Amino acid sequence: MVDHLTPQLRSLVMSRIRGRDTSPELAVRRLTHSLGYHFRLHKKGLPGTPDLVFASRSKVIFVHGCFWHRHAGCKRASSPTSRIEYWAEKFRRNVERDAEAERALRYLGWDVLVIWQCETKARNMGPLGLKIVEFLETAVNHFD
Ligand SMILES: [Zn+2]
Repeated sequence: MVDHLTPQLRSLVMSRIRGRDTSPELAVRRLTHSLGYHFRLHKKGLPGTPDLVFASRSKVIFVHGCFWHRHAGCKRASSPTSRIEYWAEKFRRNVERDAEAERALRYLGWDVLVIWQCETKARNMGPLGLKIVEFLETAVNHFD
């Protein structure tokens, strides 16, 4: 069985083994910290357990893997070619869970930014840094 893992399944297994400190998340943490911001990690008790929490600003950042969280239109969000229905259902639940967490957070007065794995490449740190600063420095509009 192990010999016949598709590339998608192989990367999925590897991403599981590395656990939650995936490199995209570490990249975002390092970048945000280098910009002078302080944050908490994986704050329990908030919907979806956001990856970075800026409590005094009422803002949270999620760093989403493109494959697991189904980044729309992204080439990393390819679909496995075996057990198609199993994966479709799993992905559907992931996307639904993300949407629910985001809705609940906004309802509770939090502003939410999702950063995708594919945005965290080393060469994209400039634009990503600007995006993070803009997000953190813009006041939350609860009447959106
Ligand atoms: Zn992506």
